[in-house]
Amino acid sequence: MNLYYDLEFLENGRTIELISIGMVCDDGREYYAVNRDMPVRRIRKHKWLMENVVPGLPKGHGDQRIHMPKRWLFHYADHRVKPRKVIADEVMNFIRAAGSDVELWANYGAYDHVCLAQLWGRMIDLPEGVPMFTRDIQQERARLGLAWNDLPQQETGEHNALADARHNQTVRRWLAERTQK
Ligand SMILES: [Mg+2]
Repeated sequence: MNLYYDLEFLENGRTIELISIGMVCDDGREYYAVNRDMPVRRIRKHKWLMENVVPGLPKGHGDQRIHMPKRWLFHYADHRVKPRKVIADEVMNFIRAAGSDVELWANYGAYDHVCLAQLWGRMIDLPEGVPMFTRDIQQERARLGLAWNDLPQQETGEHNALADARHNQTVRRWLAERTQK
């Protein structure tokens, strides 16, 4: 079973901190959550994140949207906004439900894998049933001798973690069709 994911995060060359996570499983399940414990002050000072990632975070529905304070980067009452500890539990269960042969897939996934694994602490703390590595769409692309521009392009929602995870599924499936020929 393949499980595709994408994380948005703040990294400074030393630490990688979760902003949001999106996961899509080949059994049809999807998961999206935003870390309410994200380092908001430092994110606010990060121009690229403010321009590319923050606009895709939940802003609430209906009245919530109208009344959301301008200083908030996301709506704290949105049901997708959760403490990091809750996200860790839910992500663990989401991955385990894919079965013992689950493969994790991401795009340029090295940082994503570390940020994912650190949901549970140290490397040695990785829960049973969570793979110890992530397969990379870029490695598969290179192995097949393709350029990035040869692949299906993402049409909407780039840098929204769930939209990116869905696109990873699209690209991986496209690559798999080429492999089988
Ligand atoms: Mg992304």
